[in-house]
Amino acid sequence: MNYKIPSSNLLGKPIDKNQSYIIVGAGISGLFLGYYLKKANVSFKIVEQQQQAGGLLQSEQTEYGLVERAANGFIWCKEIQEISDDLKLEILSPKSTSKSRFIVKNKKLRKIPLSFFDGIRLLQGFTKKHGTPFNTLEDFGKYFLGEKNTAQLLTPAFTGIYGASAEQLSFAGAMTQLAEAFNSTNYLRPAFKKMRAHLTPSEKKKRAAGTHCYKNGMGELTQRLTEHLQNDIEWNVDGRTLKNESGNLILTTPAHVSKDLFKEKNKTLFHHLDAIKYNSMISVTLFFSKTAFKNFKPGFGCLIPQKEGFNILGVLFNSYIFDHRVASDDLISLTCILRDDTANLSWLDKDKEWFKSLITKDLDLLFDLSEQPIDLVVSKWRNGIPLYSPSLYDSWFSMDDILKNEIPNRNLFGNYTGEISVRALAQTSYLIYKYLK
Ligand SMILES: Cc1cc2nc3c(=O)[nH]c(=O)nc-3n(C[C@H](O)[C@H](O)[C@H](O)COP(=O)(O)OP(=O)(O)OC[C@H]3O[C@@H](n4cnc5c(N)ncnc54)[C@H](O)[C@@H]3O)c2cc1C
Repeated sequence: MNYKIPSSNLLGKPIDKNQSYIIVGAGISGLFLGYYLKKANVSFKIVEQQQQAGGLLQSEQTEYGLVERAANGFIWCKEIQEISDDLKLEILSPKSTSKSRFIVKNKKLRKIPLSFFDGIRLLQGFTKKHGTPFNTLEDFGKYFLGEKNTAQLLTPAFTGIYGASAEQLSFAGAMTQLAEAFNSTNYLRPAFKKMRAHLTPSEKKKRAAGTHCYKNGMGELTQRLTEHLQNDIEWNVDGRTLKNESGNLILTTPAHVSKDLFKEKNKTLFHHLDAIKYNSMISVTLFFSKTAFKNFKPGFGCLIPQKEGFNILGVLFNSYIFDHRVASDDLISLTCILRDDTANLSWLDKDKEWFKSLITKDLDLLFDLSEQPIDLVVSKWRNGIPLYSPSLYDSWFSMDDILKNEIPNRNLFGNYTGEISVRALAQTSYLIYKYLK
């Protein structure tokens, strides 16, 4: 195969140790990057529009327990472990009650994998030879896993991460490591092996354990990083006012903000950034009394295929994933993830009561509720998750070329430049540091 693989998720010229930089945005991308530039003794400052850091990552303690506004955790990696050790932060491992994962089938929770026959179907994929390159994730799924598993497993799993279905996602964009592995083998099993070859057995074990976090949520990480970088951050600065700045800018702001810095400078780059779509995501955390569920199964959570006809895309069983998520043992905390697919994004204007009614109908079908939630917190993200479409994947290479050749004092980095997860953003930042050492 000949999949194009980005040389780095930091688009533009590599960082030069002898120059100084302004990082725009103190979301987790800007904070990780700042952390590593400081470690490498590169001169920099961060400018942030708000008075607080973290961007999408925000944790809030309520009367009934912790609420994560977006990410609820990360897959363990040695880079986040090292940052956490350095900042004296203890990583919270998942509870043993989080082991089971469910998928909804005929309105009922079924454990993954679904059945013996579905398992056989998945295994058959291991004997097939990869022929023509896959454009979308759906192409990959249908070929290796079959239509049914793609609809019932792959799409819900990736919707939970990318907020989009398999047919909307670029195969090489959403599964870059697998695409890279397919450049040296045509078979699935050796490709998977290759992807994990760099991991030690203990790293594999930690990863397999599932999502990790911190006692007080993801906000603990952004708070410590902010304290660590406190003399390097300037608050209440709109990065767009720096559009004529002649020094080096690394933009870690979302694409729809970053584009404004190129409107007059480079129309092609502006159009690439302008074309990047974001899905509007809504995360609703609900607190229930344990007695409210007549039919509940402990686990990590459940994915809901679209054809099941629910409004929610998936549910995280927070208090079964981590300790310290509820104020008392007689409570249950759940987070429901929704995507606003209405033409005029009308869900973004709805109030708490409206979401309560919409979601409790779905939860009642799943768990047979006998009581209403005690409380709920709604977090709406108009530009929640960038759409990892085939056109976004193509634009990485064009944007990288334009920056390197025409605007060498600008870089783009963030959850739309190659990797979406907190883990991968840390790993990319570490690679930048490694290159600088
Ligand atoms: C509902 C939801 C659930 C998620 N769950 C997970 C999960 O469980 N695990 C996981 O790994 N990932 C998850 N993600 C993805 C992850 O949270 C994001 O990809 C990541 O936090 C993005 O960080 P960022 O720094 O790139 O962007 P942002 O968080 O958007 O940060 C951008 C920063 O730039 C600042 N800014 C904006 N405009 C300007 C300006 N003009 N001037 C200066 N500063 C500006 C913002 O204030 C912000 O601080 C989830 C995302 C959502 C929406």
